Amino acid sequence: MKNAIALAALALATVPLAAFAQDGGAPYAVAKWKDGKACAISYTFDDGLRDHFTHVLPLLKRHGLRGTFWIIGDAVETGSLKRTPVMDWPQIAEIARWGNEIASHGLHHKATSRCADHAEILAERDLNADLIEKRTGLRPVTFCYPFNDKKDKDGESIVALVEDGLVGSRTFQKAFGGKTKADDFNAYIEREREKGAWVVTMTHGIVRGYDMWENPKELDKHFRWVREQKDIWIAPFRDVCAYAKVRDCVELTFTQDADGNTVATPSTGALDGRIFGGTMLTLLDSEGGKVCDFDPFQGSFTVKR
Ligand SMILES: [Zn+2]
Repeated sequence: MKNAIALAALALATVPLAAFAQDGGAPYAVAKWKDGKACAISYTFDDGLRDHFTHVLPLLKRHGLRGTFWIIGDAVETGSLKRTPVMDWPQIAEIARWGNEIASHGLHHKATSRCADHAEILAERDLNADLIEKRTGLRPVTFCYPFNDKKDKDGESIVALVEDGLVGSRTFQKAFGGKTKADDFNAYIEREREKGAWVVTMTHGIVRGYDMWENPKELDKHFRWVREQKDIWIAPFRDVCAYAKVRDCVELTFTQDADGNTVATPSTGALDGRIFGGTMLTLLDSEGGKVCDFDPFQGSFTVKR
C-alpha cells in the first residue's frame, strides 16, 4: 500500500523525468510533496482571533503540528475585530516561537475590490508586513485575501500583483469549523489524498466569534487522526507553497562525471533565489523511494556513486 502511494505520488509529479542519455535508464523525479508524501495539508487560522492562542496553540502543541496564522495588524493594535477579541503581540510572538507561521491578512482587512487602486492594495499588504515585523521581528512572506476577494475594483485578478516579492498567497481554502465533524473531514482528506492534493483549511472562531465550532472537541479528534497519517505532509502554508512553486519551476539535467557518478544539475527558471532559496525538494528514484533532499539554488549535486 505504501509503495502504491509512493508510486502514485511519482506519477503525479509535474517535473519531467530526466533519463540518462548514456544508458537510457534510472530516471529520477522530484517528489510532488516533501519526502514523497501522498498529499499535503496546511492548517490556517484567519483574523488573529484570541481563540487561536487559547484553544488552537495548545492543540497544535499536544499533537506536534504547526499552522499558519493570518494577522490583521490594525485589529491587533485596537484589540478586537467585529467585536471578537484578537491576540495581542506577545501572544502572536508565542505562537511563532512554537514554529508556526505568522502571516499577513492585510492591515485593515479591507477587501481588495473596495480599495481605490493597486497602490492601496499594496499598501494594505506592505504596511501590515511592516507592523508585524516591527512588533514581532518576523516579516510575513505569505498573504491571505480579506474575504477571499482576489480582484480589484474593475474585476481583474490581483493575485500576481500581491504575490510579487512574496512566497505566495492563499487562493483556495476548505472551511474547517462550524458544523465540521472529524469523521466527515477525515473522509474528505482521504479523498484528497487519492488525488495527491494540497488541502488548505480556513478556521475562524473556536469557542466564540464567527464560524465557531459547534463542537470544538471535533478539532482535537481530527488532529488526533491526522497525526497518525504518516503519508500526509502537514506543514505551514509558507512551506508547502514554496515547495510547490519551486517544484513546478525546477528542471533537472543528469550527467555522469569521470568517475561514473550521477550528477544532477537543477535550473530554477525565473524563480527569485532571495525568496525561494533554501527550499528543500525531495528527489525520488524510479521506485518512488527517497534518494535525497536538495536545494536547487545550490547548484549541481551528486545523486549516486
Ligand atoms: Zn479574514
